[in-house]
Amino acid sequence: MSLADTGSAAGLRAPVRDQLFINGRFVDALSGERLATLNPHDNSPIAEVAMASAPDVDLAVQAAQAAFPAWSTRSAMDRGRVLLRLADLIESHGDELARLESLDTGHPIRDSRGLDVPRTAATYRYFGGMADKFQGEQIPVEAGFLNYTLREPVGVVGQIVPWNFPLMFTSWKMAPALAAGNCVVLKPAEITPLSALRIAELMSEAGMPDGVVNVLPGLGASAGQALAEHPQVAKVAFTGSTATGRRIVQASAGNLKKVQLELGGKGANIVFDDADLTAAVNGAAWAIFHNQGQACIAGSRLVLHESIADEFLDRFVALARSIRLGDPLDPATEMGPLTSVQHRDRVLSYVDLARAEGATLLSGGRSPGGELAAGCYVEPTIVQARSMHDRVAQEEVFGPFVTVLRFADDAQALRIANGTEYGLGGGLWTSNLQRAHRFAREMKSGMVWLNCYKRVNPGSPFGGVGLSGYGREMGFDAMREYTQVKSVWVNVDAKIPPYYPR
Ligand code: NAD
Repeated sequence: MSLADTGSAAGLRAPVRDQLFINGRFVDALSGERLATLNPHDNSPIAEVAMASAPDVDLAVQAAQAAFPAWSTRSAMDRGRVLLRLADLIESHGDELARLESLDTGHPIRDSRGLDVPRTAATYRYFGGMADKFQGEQIPVEAGFLNYTLREPVGVVGQIVPWNFPLMFTSWKMAPALAAGNCVVLKPAEITPLSALRIAELMSEAGMPDGVVNVLPGLGASAGQALAEHPQVAKVAFTGSTATGRRIVQASAGNLKKVQLELGGKGANIVFDDADLTAAVNGAAWAIFHNQGQACIAGSRLVLHESIADEFLDRFVALARSIRLGDPLDPATEMGPLTSVQHRDRVLSYVDLARAEGATLLSGGRSPGGELAAGCYVEPTIVQARSMHDRVAQEEVFGPFVTVLRFADDAQALRIANGTEYGLGGGLWTSNLQRAHRFAREMKSGMVWLNCYKRVNPGSPFGGVGLSGYGREMGFDAMREYTQVKSVWVNVDAKIPPYYPR
């Protein structure tokens, strides 16, 4: 068992797991290759982690395949019990997990402690409780027959997650898959592998049988691609960019895998002239600046009624400028660094694009200097675009970068809201109940928030339409995604006349 020795030096209280987790054991990659994971606060190395490639993926898939018959036929209540124990372990190791997540991703510790860890525990607990409540149906067919459905796990599931919420997204993927009786091979993002490896270890402690859960850090183009192509993987569930989502669909074609895609977004956050402006200003800041804007559901288009736009922007800019940037491990920090240098530079390139497109920079647009110069920081950035068709109003920036657009009436607000190829989440602030519900119906998106933004809960379906992907995480929908339905016909007392009487 190998442990990186850099953990405590980097602000952790326990050493980090730095190997692949296959068949209940931590092992090195067959190639011996490793990849470094960095602290985005100052780009110092946290650990070097074993890097999986196709042969490791194959070993993990074989382990998962071997574990499937026993796990899938174990009583649903027993499967749930393992997840419930895991939820307790996550809570009792909450501080350690929060620090690990903050170090690896840059999430402010107050969020890792206050949101990521409790939401992760809640997800495992919800699906632990769900395991024995998700059931088939009896269908009222013609007399003499009984027809019922079985909900069966699909088999070995490949799961690929991004770097923006690694701890939480690992729970969103693994909890329903395991509750439904599947076995899992999960590939965390190459730049944030640490929390998923620790969860794998806690899974064992919670009583998860060997092989049911396998975690393989590695590059997308090699390990990720191998998982998406693998002929014994029955389903691949992916969260990440739309471009990679397309590659996953192509890679899945060989054995016609089930595919579930949670992709990018360009959420519209609409503020009407009858809104509670104080709530809307705060809600808009949360919508875009939480997690440095690295959220698929970020409210990255701020759509303002022209009559309140100036007052709103005065207050919004003042709030954005007051957000405390700093070391993620400092409890006073409100905004941390972006998760990598490459991503910081990509976000900053959109500031140049905004200028080139004639947008007005209202705030931010730079990396802060001083103590934070060595890290991946970007100031909260607000630009006012000239047109809803500009690239800054269409493309996902995935950073603390919000594009302001103005509207004159409801019809124009709706045109703007629905005017992208994405359709993940969007919100509106208004005191007009009829308008709120009308927009909820008419907005082309998987989620709509009325007088709030970015609410998530393990019971509430999460996913998108259009280029934001298909399938739903969370709730009963997630259990449906991770099972296939079988229809069983029983002749109870029907007399079937012969079709070919002889
Ligand atoms: P990405 O697509 O580059 O990477 C996501 C994951 O896919 C990583 O684990 C990566 O290693 C892997 N990957 C890359 N190439 C692959 C390939 N060819 N085959 C298989 N796997 C491959 O995305 P990112 O930049 O890491 O994440 C940000 C994106 O994720 C944004 O677009 C964001 O909107 C999206 N996202 C969506 C949701 C959602 O629920 N809809 C949630 C969070 C993030």
